[in-house]
Amino acid sequence: MTDLTKLTLSSALKKLKSKEIKASELTDAHLAKIESNKDLNAFITETHDLARQQAKQADDRYAKGEAKALDGIPLGIKDLFCTKDIRTTAASKILENFIPPYESTVTQKLLDDGAVFTGKLNLDEFAMGSSNTTSYFGNVINPWKRNTGDNAQLVPGGSSGGSAAAVASGMVMAATGTDTGGSIRQPASFCGIVGIKPTYGRCSRFGIVAFSSSLDQAGAFARTTEDAALLLQSMSGFDPKDSTSVDKAVPDFSKNLTGSLKGLKVGIPKEYRVEGMPLEIENLWEKGKEWLEEEGAEVVDVSLPHTKYALPTYYIIAPAEASSNLARYDGVRYGLRAPGQDITETYEKTRAEGFGDEVMRRIMIGTYVLSAGYYDAYYIQAQKVRRLIRDDFMNAYKKCDVLLTPTAPSAAFAIGENEDDPIKMYLNDVFTVPASLAGLPGMSVPAGLDTKGLPLGLQIIGKPWDEETVLKVGNSIERAAGLSTMPVTMDGKRSAA
Ligand code: GLN
Repeated sequence: MTDLTKLTLSSALKKLKSKEIKASELTDAHLAKIESNKDLNAFITETHDLARQQAKQADDRYAKGEAKALDGIPLGIKDLFCTKDIRTTAASKILENFIPPYESTVTQKLLDDGAVFTGKLNLDEFAMGSSNTTSYFGNVINPWKRNTGDNAQLVPGGSSGGSAAAVASGMVMAATGTDTGGSIRQPASFCGIVGIKPTYGRCSRFGIVAFSSSLDQAGAFARTTEDAALLLQSMSGFDPKDSTSVDKAVPDFSKNLTGSLKGLKVGIPKEYRVEGMPLEIENLWEKGKEWLEEEGAEVVDVSLPHTKYALPTYYIIAPAEASSNLARYDGVRYGLRAPGQDITETYEKTRAEGFGDEVMRRIMIGTYVLSAGYYDAYYIQAQKVRRLIRDDFMNAYKKCDVLLTPTAPSAAFAIGENEDDPIKMYLNDVFTVPASLAGLPGMSVPAGLDTKGLPLGLQIIGKPWDEETVLKVGNSIERAAGLSTMPVTMDGKRSAA
């Protein structure tokens, strides 16, 4: 019998429509997989009863011929999206017992399309991190292992590590994520799956716990580009409840996925060739170029001269906005309260007890760069550099239609590695942060394995609102690499569906 957890989302939809399988069976298979993969710690909250109930309703709709776009598809939701009456923690102690009275727009859209929610996925606390090791609920383990026999537990990347691990191991067919500086693309690369962050403003931020509001954007994880397109379709669209959501028609993302790339110009930014990057990533990048040329694309060299300022700029702007957004957790209105003698002591005790080290570090950096005297030197300066970084991309797009780069400077590393020095951890975002600062769509597609058998992703960065080309180029790489049409098994090997 077919293992239902190895189906792609698109093939599952076909089988559900043709009544070859039932939504209830599909959900049960995924819930069983969640049970057998508990050691990965991908979930913070599981909602099995709700999932079974939703699957039953989906079956009723299939029976009546009233199926919706994602009817009966088991998904996981990053625990940064508020879900009505379901605990939403942002992986923080301060929100450990927070039950939102409302639904985020993105999750509401998924519910409206008939999706089945299996639970809330683990992440770095408040989405701050690149390895999912800052979660109050413990780190997530990558389902992949090195083939060297060292048996080391690897990080799934971050901050959406639970989402990536759950999709890669077949616990869910697809998952939501959020990406502020790389939190969808980097974990997708580490776990050998597809992760797409759309243009800033494509998905509503309403009901997503805020980290850095001018950068945060929701997006999709799946095992194929087609599946990612289907999930993103459902998540996208204007929302009057989010003033930065843009009123723009959402194209059919899966319509033009395949086909020749004739006439398309792919830019290779020379500044992404960073010192110390493993040769195998460099080689994979070369291979990616060749694959796209074989499909008819023309590869051109471009320059993004301000790239080297992207990381320092991001690590000023993101903490600045975080320090302001996180001021709301004061022990009065939300979540944890640690009472003190007076209101000031209550604030202090609550925040000291409720926030983890990385979150406190960000709040301190953010408060510093926003303080009188330093505001102009750091924050305003960073905003100016951000504009130059965006201008770089816009200039490059005069010469090309999309950019191809590696997603991350390394494969998944072992838990505990890079923990000694926060700067080392921040360096993980070197290739993903520039597109975030410019608000551009970006996607990671699994493109190969390193010598230790671990997945490596290539990143495609598009023009504003051009997710379609990003997906098309991604699909082309996916087909050439021949990796991502099949899910990953627990031992890190892929097996046929
Ligand atoms: N790793 C980056 C950070 O720690 C990005 C996180 C994210 O995109 N949410 O800020």
